[in-house]
Amino acid sequence: MEFEKLANLFSKLETISDKTRKVQYIARFLKELKDQYKETLLLLQGTVFYPWEQKNLGIAEKGVIRAISIAYGIEKQKVEELFIKYGDLGIVAEKACEMRKQKPLLLKPLTVKDVYQTLRKIADIEGEGSQDKKIITFAKLLVNAKPKEAKYIVRLALEELRIGVGEGIIRDAIAIAFSVTPEAVEYAYSILLDFGEVVRIAKEQGEQGLWQVKLQVGRPFRVMLAIRARNVQEAFDIVGRPAMIEAKYDGFRLQIHKKGDQVWLWTRRLEDVTRQFPDVVNIVRNRVKANEIIFEAEAVGYDKKTNKFLPFQKISQRVKRKYDIEKMAKEIPVELHAFDIVYLEGEQLMKKPFKERRALLEKVIDEKEHEIQLSIGIIEKDDKKAYQFYQDCLNKGLEGVMFKNLNAPYQPGRRVGYMVKLKPTLETLDLVIVAAEWGEGKRSGWLTSFTVAALDKDTGNYLEVGEVGTGIKEKKERAEDITFEELTELLKPYIYKQEGKKVYVKPKIVVEVAYEEIQESPRYKSGFALRFPRIVRIRFDRSPKEIDTIDRIKQIYEMQRGGIHKQ
Ligand code: ATP
Repeated sequence: MEFEKLANLFSKLETISDKTRKVQYIARFLKELKDQYKETLLLLQGTVFYPWEQKNLGIAEKGVIRAISIAYGIEKQKVEELFIKYGDLGIVAEKACEMRKQKPLLLKPLTVKDVYQTLRKIADIEGEGSQDKKIITFAKLLVNAKPKEAKYIVRLALEELRIGVGEGIIRDAIAIAFSVTPEAVEYAYSILLDFGEVVRIAKEQGEQGLWQVKLQVGRPFRVMLAIRARNVQEAFDIVGRPAMIEAKYDGFRLQIHKKGDQVWLWTRRLEDVTRQFPDVVNIVRNRVKANEIIFEAEAVGYDKKTNKFLPFQKISQRVKRKYDIEKMAKEIPVELHAFDIVYLEGEQLMKKPFKERRALLEKVIDEKEHEIQLSIGIIEKDDKKAYQFYQDCLNKGLEGVMFKNLNAPYQPGRRVGYMVKLKPTLETLDLVIVAAEWGEGKRSGWLTSFTVAALDKDTGNYLEVGEVGTGIKEKKERAEDITFEELTELLKPYIYKQEGKKVYVKPKIVVEVAYEEIQESPRYKSGFALRFPRIVRIRFDRSPKEIDTIDRIKQIYEMQRGGIHKQ
C-alpha cells in the first residue's frame, strides 16, 4: 500500500477530536486494507516496534533537523528558524519539502513497507559513525517523500505521531470493520501484541478465530492484573467463596517460557530480562519438569546471610544491568515463587479454571528452597480464618495476600476481578512544603508541584522526602477540595528564592500526604522517597514543629518490610 494513503488518514485523524468519528474513519480504512497489515497497524500506533521490543530509532530532534536540511537542500539554520516558528518538526519537514529547490524528476511512490523498513533499519545501525549513517539513511527516505508524507515520517521517527489514536480506538475500529466484538479483539491482542495479525485473523476467521488465538512459547503476552480490595470481606465479595488466598511476595513478576533447554524471561512491562538473570534461567532448566511451558512467578531477592527478603529496589538493580551480570547474580540472588500457568506441552490453559491450573503447576515444579517454590496459600471461605492468614503473612514480612477465584479462567491483559490484592494501606504523613514549581500551559500562574519534607528532630532541619502534584484540583468542586490557586496564594508570601521555574518557600504550610510506599532513595538527603504521594488536605491546625519526623518515616519503612523473617 502507498504510504500516501496512510498519511492522508493520519492527517484526517489529526483534525478530528471526537473518538467515535476517529473509530469510524479507521474502520473504513481497515476494511480496504489488503496487505502490509503488520506494518500499517504499527505505524498507526505511531511506532515501528512491537511492545516487547525495547528499541528506539536513536535520532533526536537535532538529527532530524540535519536530515531535513540534507534532504531538501535547505540550510540548517533555516530549518532551525522554521522549528522555532512552528514548534513541530513534522510541520517543518512538510514546509521544507514544499520549499525544496530541486524536485526529484521521477518520484517513486513510497509504500508503507518502505517507511517501516527504513525506520527499522535506522534503529539497527550501531557502532562507530552510526549517528551520521542514521541521519543519511533518514534523509534519503525524506528525499522520496511528498510534503504530507514527510510530516508524518518525521513525527514517526520522533515517536510523536500526535493523531490521538490509542489502543482502545484501534480495538474498536477493528471490531467495527470486521463485525467482531471489542472483547475478542482485546483478548487476541493481549496474547499476540500485534494488531496487524489481529486484523488478519478478524478478517479471515472472524470472532471465533480471535477467541482461539494461541499463546506461543517464546513470545510474550499481557498478563492478568489484580484489582485491589480494602478488606477481607470485600475481597471475598469479588472472587467468591471459597477462594484461594496466597501470600503476596514483594518482588517482580516474571512470565517464564521454556522450550527444551531454552528459557525466556519477561517482566510485567514486557522487557526481556533473560540475559540479566542467568541464575533464574538455570533454576527453570533444572527444576521445571516440562519440555514446553509458560508460567508466572514472582522473583524475590533474598539475603544469603540473614535469610531475609531484600527490598524490591535492590533486585530492580539487576533488571537494567548490562555487565557484571554473574557477579550481581551472586551478590543479589533471587528465588522464584510460582503462582500461575497458562501453557503446558502444547496445551493452552487460559480457559481452564484456576484450581486446575494450580494443580498442573504443582505437578511440574520440583520445589527447592531459595530456588523455586509454589506460592504458599490456603483455600478458605471464612472471614476470620482468611484474616488470620493475612496477618500471618504480614508478620512474615510479606506484602499482603492475593485472593483468587478458584473457577475463573485466565484473562490476559485485564483487571477483571479474578485476582484481588489485599495489602495494608499505610498511614498518612503530615509534612511541610519547602519548595514548589510554577506550572505550564493552562496551569501557568499556579504553583503545581510541591516538594514536601519531614522534620529531622536532631537538627531541627526539614529534609525532603518527595515531590507531589496530585490530590489538588484545578477547580473547586466540593468544599473540601484544595485548588492550585488556593495553595499558591498560601505559599506566595513565604517564597524566598527563585531558580528558573522552582521557588523555595519557608517551611510554614503543613499538608497531609498519602502514598503507596516509602522507598529508600539516594535522591534526597533524608534517604527516603514517597512513592505515588498525594495531598489529602492542608493541616492548618498543625505547626511545622509538629509534623512527622524522619525517624517516623524510617519506622514505617521498616514496618512496611515487616519482620522480614522468612518462616
Ligand atoms: P498491578 O500489577 O496490579 O498493576 P503493581 O504492579 O503495583 O500492580 P501490586 O499492586 O503490588 O502490583 O499487586 C499485584 C502484583 O503482585 C502482581 O502483578 C504480582 O507481581 C505480585 N504477586 C506477588 N505474589 C503474588 C501471587 N501469589 N499471585 C499473584 N501475584 C502476585
